[in-house]
Amino acid sequence: SHRTHSRPGPLPPLTPPEITWQNDVLPVSSQFDDPYFSLHDGLAESRYVFLQHNQLPHRWASWRGPFCIVETGFGTGLNFLTTWQAFRQQPNNDCWLHITSIEKYPLSRQQLSRALALWPELAELTTQLLTQYPDAITGFHSLCWPEQRVQLTLILDDVVDALAELSGPVHAWYLDGFAPANNPEMWQPDLFKQIRRLSRRHPQLTGSTTLATFTAASVVRRGLQGAGFNVYKPKGYNGKREMLAATYKASIGPEQPPEANSQPWMTPSLPTPMSLSDSSAAAVIIVGAGLAGATTARALAERGIKVQVIDQSGIATGASGNPQGGLYVKLAANDQATHTEFYLHAYLTSLRWMNRLFEPSADGVWNACGVLQLAWSAAEQQRQQKFLDRLHYPASLIQPVSAAQASVLAGSPQQQGGLFFPAAGWVSPADVCQRLLDHSLIDVQIANVSAITQLTNKHWQLQLDTTTDTAGTTSSSQTTQQLVIATAATTQQLLPDTYLPIKSIRGQLTYLDAAQSPPLTTVLCGRSYMAPPREGQLVLGATYHQNDPDKTLREQDHQTNLGHLQDFGDLWGTLASKVSTHKLVVGGRTSFRCTTPDYLPMAGPVVDTDRFIHCYAPMIKNARQIPARKAPLLEGLWINLGHGSRGLASAPLCAELLACQITGSALPVSNRVAEALWPGRFLLRDMIRRKLPIKR
Ligand code: SAM
Repeated sequence: SHRTHSRPGPLPPLTPPEITWQNDVLPVSSQFDDPYFSLHDGLAESRYVFLQHNQLPHRWASWRGPFCIVETGFGTGLNFLTTWQAFRQQPNNDCWLHITSIEKYPLSRQQLSRALALWPELAELTTQLLTQYPDAITGFHSLCWPEQRVQLTLILDDVVDALAELSGPVHAWYLDGFAPANNPEMWQPDLFKQIRRLSRRHPQLTGSTTLATFTAASVVRRGLQGAGFNVYKPKGYNGKREMLAATYKASIGPEQPPEANSQPWMTPSLPTPMSLSDSSAAAVIIVGAGLAGATTARALAERGIKVQVIDQSGIATGASGNPQGGLYVKLAANDQATHTEFYLHAYLTSLRWMNRLFEPSADGVWNACGVLQLAWSAAEQQRQQKFLDRLHYPASLIQPVSAAQASVLAGSPQQQGGLFFPAAGWVSPADVCQRLLDHSLIDVQIANVSAITQLTNKHWQLQLDTTTDTAGTTSSSQTTQQLVIATAATTQQLLPDTYLPIKSIRGQLTYLDAAQSPPLTTVLCGRSYMAPPREGQLVLGATYHQNDPDKTLREQDHQTNLGHLQDFGDLWGTLASKVSTHKLVVGGRTSFRCTTPDYLPMAGPVVDTDRFIHCYAPMIKNARQIPARKAPLLEGLWINLGHGSRGLASAPLCAELLACQITGSALPVSNRVAEALWPGRFLLRDMIRRKLPIKR
C-alpha cells in the first residue's frame, strides 16, 4: 500500500546523472556503466524491442480512448519520441496516447538536447518535448500535446516508489532501466509486485496487458512469471542478444476486488464507454463556467469528448471573473508533504497550460512577469527562511532575493527582500475562461440548473430554467450519463445529500488608477497581492470574510486593501496619504471563493452518502478495520470545487485529473494526491471522528 512509503520531507531533491559522451555523441552512464541506448541504432532497436513486442502500432488501430503505456527509465526520451512518432503516423483519431515514464536521475535540458541530436528524424518532436521538459523537481510532471492527442506523465522519482503511486490502467509496459547486473536496485521484487497490481486492473474488452524489455536476465523472466505473465524470449535486436516479451495471463474475467490493506475507496471504477466527437449529443455536461468548469471542459474536449457547459449567468461571473490574479503558489515550509506536492505540481501544470495556450504579453491574458513574495513582516521573514533552509528547489522555480534585488524586480524601492518566482506572473481569469471554452467540441448554454436527480437507468437529469426577454422563464430538462458539478459553494444546494463541509469566503478587490501610482513591473504579494497595470488599472486585494454574503462594494474594505500597500515598500506605503482615495480608487469587485477544511480542492467522483456510511461503518468503531470493499459511488457524477483563491494554480491539474478519471486513463497525479483531492475524504474523516451531523 502506498501509505507504507513514508518520505523524509516534502519532495526530496534529485541526484543528477553521471554521463560521459562516447565519441562525443553517445550518452553512457558512468554510474551504471551502461549506454542509454544501443551503440548501433538506438532508434531501430527502440522500435523493435518496445513497439513491435507490444504489438504497436497495430493495437492502436481499433482502440477507443486512452492507451496507457508505463516506462521505467525515461532517460533521453528516445523511447517516448519513437512511440510518439509511430502514433502520429497511424490514422485512428479515437485513440489518445498517455505515456507515464519514470526517471530517478533526470537529464538536464542541455543533456537531453545533446543526446537527441543524434536523431534528425525526431528533431521536430524533440523541440516539442524540450519546450515542456521539467526542471529537476521530484514528483509527477504533466506534459500534454492535445492537438496530437499525446500526454506524458513524467515522474521524477525512484521506479518502485513511483509505481506504488500509480493507479493504472496499464495497457503496455516498457521496462528499460539499465541492465539488471548493473542496476539491481531497480529490478527488485517490489517492481514485479507493482507490475502485477497495475496489470490486473484492466477493462475486459481491450485484451491483455503486454510488456517488453531489452533484457533476458533470468531474474526478470522469473519476476514476470511470478507476477502473472506469460513470458516469451524473442531474438534480440539485430540478432545480438535475447530480449523478453510478455502478456498478462489473468486479465480477462470479472473485475478484481480491491486489495486488502489499501484504501479501497480509491479503487478506480471501470470507465463508461464515451461517445466521441462524431456523435451529436454532448457526452459530458458540466455545470459552472468558472475556472474549474472551463478547465475541465477544455481537458475533456481536447481528448475528443463533446462537452456542454451550463451556467446561470454566463462565463466566469463568480470568483473567476476577476480581471487579474497572480499565478503562483505559497509553498509551505512545514511537513504538509501532500499539500506541497499537489500545489507545486498544479502550479507547474498551470504554467504549461498558459504557455501552451496563450502568447505571454503585458496586455493580454497571461503575463509571465514573475511574482515576488515580500518578507513583509518578521513572521513572514522567518517562514521564508525556514523554507529556504529546508527545501532545495532549483532557481528556475524559486529564488531568495535581497531588498536591493527586490527593488529592481518591483520597479520601486523595497525595504525587504523575499522569494521570487521567475516563471510566474498574472493572468486574466475571466479571459482565460472565455478562451478555454472557445473550442469546437464545447457548447456553452446560459440556464439556471434548479435540480439534479438520478434516474433509474443511472442517467442524470437536470432541471433547467432559461429566462429570455420574449418568453420569460421556461423550464426544460436534460439528461446525461456523465455530469460534472463545478459551481463552488452553491453546489451544496444542487447536491443536498452530498457531504460538503465547504465555506464561502467574501473577497473584495480594489482597482487603482495606474496614472496616480508608482511603477510596478512584477506581481507583489504581501497581505494582499497587486499585479502590474492592465488597461490603466492596478488590481489590489483581496479581503477575506467568512459568512458574509454582501455583494456591494464597501469603503471599509477598500481601506483594508489600501492599508496593505505598506507591505510593498515606502513609496507604495505612503501613496494613500498623498493621493486622495476618490482619485486613487477607480473601482472594485466583490466575489465569493469556496474553500474546504484542508484548503485542498475537491476533485473526483461523488460517493453515495448513505451507502458509503453503511459500507464503511466498521471504521466508526475502529478506523483500522477497513472493509475491502469499493466505495459506493453516484456513478457518473463528479465534482470540481474548493479552489479558494488559488484556482489559477489548482484548476488545470484538477481538470486533467477529472478528464483522466472520466475517460478511464491512468492519472496524472500520485495516488497520494488523488486521495487528498478525493471528494469523499471529509465524510470518511468525520465518520471516523464520529462527528457526522446526525441527520439521517
Ligand atoms: N528509455 C530511455 C531512453 O529512451 O533514452 C533509456 C533508459 S536508460 C537505459 C535507463 C534509465 O533508467 C536511466 O535514465 C536511469 O537513470 C534510469 N534509472 C535507473 N535506475 C532507476 C531507478 N531506480 N528509478 C528510476 N529510474 C532509474
